[in-house]
Amino acid sequence: MLLVTTIAGVRARREELAKTGQRVALVPTMGALHEGHLTLVRRGRELADEVWASIFVNPAQFGPSEDFVSYPRDLERDRALLEREGATLLFAPSVREIYPRPAATVIDVPELAAGLCGPYRPGHFRGVALVVAKLLNIVQPHVAVFGAKDWQQAVVIRRLVEDLDMPVHIEVHPTVREEDGLARSSRNAYLSPEERRTATALSRALEAAATALADGEKRGAALELILATEIGRAPGARLQYAAAVDPATLQPVATAEGPVLLALAVYVGSTRLIDNVLTEGI
Ligand code: AMP
Repeated sequence: MLLVTTIAGVRARREELAKTGQRVALVPTMGALHEGHLTLVRRGRELADEVWASIFVNPAQFGPSEDFVSYPRDLERDRALLEREGATLLFAPSVREIYPRPAATVIDVPELAAGLCGPYRPGHFRGVALVVAKLLNIVQPHVAVFGAKDWQQAVVIRRLVEDLDMPVHIEVHPTVREEDGLARSSRNAYLSPEERRTATALSRALEAAATALADGEKRGAALELILATEIGRAPGARLQYAAAVDPATLQPVATAEGPVLLALAVYVGSTRLIDNVLTEGI
């Protein structure tokens, strides 16, 4: 696997590959890789001839009081994992390489970024949109693979790619979970053993609400209450939001008539966790 740290290096390799007509799948990540990321790499291999991964902890998507500095970083471990999964190129640029000066351009998808995590992470989705647009322009993949765990992010990216006519397919892969239901996340590493047990409340709450919906509870507000109640029962968990929304528009669902996205953001100790499930609705 080739380790590339410069945009010029990626472009040169991409031009070589273009001559062969081979297809490239890109898996953008912030590193501290886990099974969720590796599943995206495997999906990429099904969709393209080569899978390229990127590791970039993007300062533009972190708020001033968030964990940009403490975010887990382990390039050597990540590199070995990606190599084992058959990725052929790892793009791991410095912050200076990606932002030689602050970008004056803003990419905003306000109608999709306004709800769910939006109000609690001002500027986050602008930061995500900017870096993903840059990575897609640098790598020019045929496919880019994202995880459903960050559903709002995936919806924002799909929309920006459509609106800007970017020639890439956005593939969204289901969330990979631990055996007890906890969604895999690089931030799970922050949890103490006790917090780790508490964190199972998220998937339990989502399952309770999904079961209620399957049993005929169509009212969005009632589904949100089930989510909030389950989180409230877990000592040490603090709800940030519980939502039942349309998976495409992310608008709140008054009465479920089709698919519903149930979504949560919860603080467990000082660690903010998010999770969601997509239900078929009724
Ligand atoms: P991150 O490194 O957290 O920015 O995540 C990089 C990509 O991996 C994003 O597309 C995430 O949605 C995806 N991802 C993170 N956790 C999971 C998971 N548990 N299952 C599937 N995809 C995931």
